[in-house]
Amino acid sequence: MPEPGWTLCAPCPHCFFHAWQRIDGGGLCWEAEWECDQCEFGGPRDACNTDGGWGPAPHGVRAAVVAAEGTVLLRVEGSGGAALTVFRDALGMTIPQVLAAVRDGYRATPVEARYLTQRLRAAGFGARTQ
Ligand SMILES: [Zn+2]
Repeated sequence: MPEPGWTLCAPCPHCFFHAWQRIDGGGLCWEAEWECDQCEFGGPRDACNTDGGWGPAPHGVRAAVVAAEGTVLLRVEGSGGAALTVFRDALGMTIPQVLAAVRDGYRATPVEARYLTQRLRAAGFGARTQ
């Protein structure tokens, strides 16, 4: 067992992983933190419980965002290379993924949908969510 005062830089079984995305200064970013009322992890002395970055969220972070906020189906109206570029630049998708997203719609998180809609409109495309 850790001694009192030991900063264990790992979550305990009671820790809750909380993640979200936002649009900041025109860029897509994500943040994640562990919250817990049972262990020291995430206490004020301890910054190792938080993480964040720009661009597409890492897999586990995105999964937590989807679990918390769900997804919307984003549909692009019209087609063309610029729409493909928006998806690729925003979310780091591969060409087959991008083609499928433009053709069939893309299951985006609410923040991704807002961000993609802004970028698509700036590139001259319509976008709607369902
Ligand atoms: Zn904990």
